Amino acid sequence: MNPAVALTIAGSDSGGGAGIQADLKTFAAHRVFGTSVITALTAQNTAGVKGISAVDPGFVGAQLDAVLADLPVAAVKTGMLATPETVALVAGYASRLPGLVVDPVLVASSGDRLFTRDAERAYLDLLFPHAAVVTPNLREASVLLGRDVVDVDDAIKAAEDLAATGPACVVVKGGHLRGSRDAVDVVYAGGTVELLSSPWIDTANNHGTGCTFAAATAARLALGQPVAEALAGAKDYVHTALAASAGWRLGAGHGPLAW
Ligand code: PLP
Repeated sequence: MNPAVALTIAGSDSGGGAGIQADLKTFAAHRVFGTSVITALTAQNTAGVKGISAVDPGFVGAQLDAVLADLPVAAVKTGMLATPETVALVAGYASRLPGLVVDPVLVASSGDRLFTRDAERAYLDLLFPHAAVVTPNLREASVLLGRDVVDVDDAIKAAEDLAATGPACVVVKGGHLRGSRDAVDVVYAGGTVELLSSPWIDTANNHGTGCTFAAATAARLALGQPVAEALAGAKDYVHTALAASAGWRLGAGHGPLAW
């Protein structure tokens, strides 16, 4: 029997920890066949981003056309889109992107910017209205809303406000939520708030955590799981992967997660 097919639209991380590389390995771990549309190349290792070369939006479109014309994509994840032009381009394909999980990648954990400064509104105006799930972390929610999002009450309000832009479900990932000892995510869908929690794992090997969560969610949607089940499963998947690689020593900076 054919495997389910998922698509990642994201940037390449030469260090292998995040981006396209994390997404494809996560799809494979779910026994989902991964296709990929590359939006940017990064010259990167565990210590940080040394350079970025954005792919021309016209060629991002050519990749999308090629994949969508031929392969039965059942769910899609977007990661680093690099520029507002590419956000607009991807939004133009929205009717052909089922199970769309939008991870609004703006800044790497190293602090390097991965998206055009001051153009973040493109996400809210163009792409969020088409998403099944959006997955900002606290910092991305803060940038998108123009205010600090630091504790659980802020995260709940942020999720409500981001939901008003149109996505069916908002997950504000609270990895570093003030006042919490666990990794708590706020899930807002259909007017209801739910908290997803897993025990905090103290490790520097967290590069690619956000990509992995969104890719695992898309993989599970491709397998036919409902959104709530896909999110809970993705949370467990990330926890297990983080625990398995917590003691690794790959590179001098933030190392990758296992799978
Ligand atoms: N996509 C790319 C290409 C990246 O380089 C990064 C971070 O450096 C990300 C996405 C986001 O990574 P994370 O999952 O750690 O938030």
